[in-house]
Amino acid sequence: MKSVKDIYILIGPPGSGKGSLSHLLKKNLGWAHLSTGNLCRQHITRMTDIGLKIDHAIKSGKLIEDKLMITMVASWIQEATIASSGIILDGFPRTVAQARALDYIFNQDSFKNSSITIVSMNINDDHVINRLRTRYVCQNDACQAVYSIISHQHHTNLECQECGSPVIQRIDDKGDIVFERLKIYHRFADDLLDYYRNSSHKVIDLNVEMPLENVFKMFIQSAGKCA
Ligand code: ATP
Ligand code: MG
Repeated sequence: MKSVKDIYILIGPPGSGKGSLSHLLKKNLGWAHLSTGNLCRQHITRMTDIGLKIDHAIKSGKLIEDKLMITMVASWIQEATIASSGIILDGFPRTVAQARALDYIFNQDSFKNSSITIVSMNINDDHVINRLRTRYVCQNDACQAVYSIISHQHHTNLECQECGSPVIQRIDDKGDIVFERLKIYHRFADDLLDYYRNSSHKVIDLNVEMPLENVFKMFIQSAGKCA
């Protein structure tokens, strides 16, 4: 098994750009990317047993139970380590229980040469709400490209520029669900970040209230990587 060298764990509120930054890192550095939100949504679209079980929680902005998330992530990591030198976790862990389970996985021999870096993505709540209200995503499971409606203002039928599928608004980006997700994020984030700040892992603080290209450059600088 090829050993994973770099593990990046992105922690930030909904709409902080975890998916967008991951997309750039995947494209530029060839790393494997796991978005647990996308993984959950794929289960729902495919109507798997897991999908049926989590459908309501996802659509109402609640968290999925730790045990189920941990099992899903553990099996993804097992496969990702075969193919990649680096991995990005976007949306996991979200609770201290998930972080402990993740440490247990990364304590295995196959990760003994890996470096784990936590990226804390900082953005003000008003910006988050604004971003989520204008966010549209490609409906194609395999693509899930993200757009701001401003970048779509010349298109009448909202079509994905990457794959041509319809571009829609996520159910959990609508109405009060945005506030619910933000509230849940704040309920867990401080404890989660404290857990990591008291661990041996490196924690990077990243200001993400700026254009994505700048966030990417800042990330590369802080992480000491070449893109
Ligand atoms: P973003 O807006 O950047 O996509 P988000 O955190 O709101 O961020 P996702 O990461 O796409 O959204 O997650 C969507 C939903 O998936 C969450 O609201 C939750 O129901 C579920 N989910 C994803 N990751 C986890 C996790 N680690 N633990 C529990 N539930 C999760
Ligand atoms: Mg996301």
